[in-house]
Amino acid sequence: MKTQRTRSSNRILNLLKTLNRGISAQEIYLELRQSSQSMGLATVYRALEALKLEGAIQARTLANGESLYSCVQEDKHHLTCLQCGVSIAIHQCPVHELETQLQKSHQFKIYYHTLEFFGLCDRCTEAQAVSDEINVDI
Ligand SMILES: [Zn+2]
Ligand SMILES: [Zn+2]
Repeated sequence: MKTQRTRSSNRILNLLKTLNRGISAQEIYLELRQSSQSMGLATVYRALEALKLEGAIQARTLANGESLYSCVQEDKHHLTCLQCGVSIAIHQCPVHELETQLQKSHQFKIYYHTLEFFGLCDRCTEAQAVSDEINVDI
């Protein structure tokens, strides 16, 4: 079942391809407006939904509930700091093999998977250690 991709979907997909990072729907809306390919925010959401069902893009939800969209081709995961929000890309995937297996054993067409690690980055860990030391004296 191949559905015709709308022009807005194509524009968004092209934008995501040129960016090397996840981007929110709001940012997509602003980016397109800057490049004079303006479309309403509702259209952006509709196009993103269609692209997602097609398996062309994937959504990643941050700790603050915001969704970031990116092209699906890369199997990339992140370490996200709960304190400062920094996302560090990791270039390893322990479930890549599993995905292939599941696809076969369940006859399920897997578009993508998510795997996220949350905690504190080294800078925030250090800051926390310092403030713990201060708190001890109080
Ligand atoms: Zn941090
Ligand atoms: Zn992976």
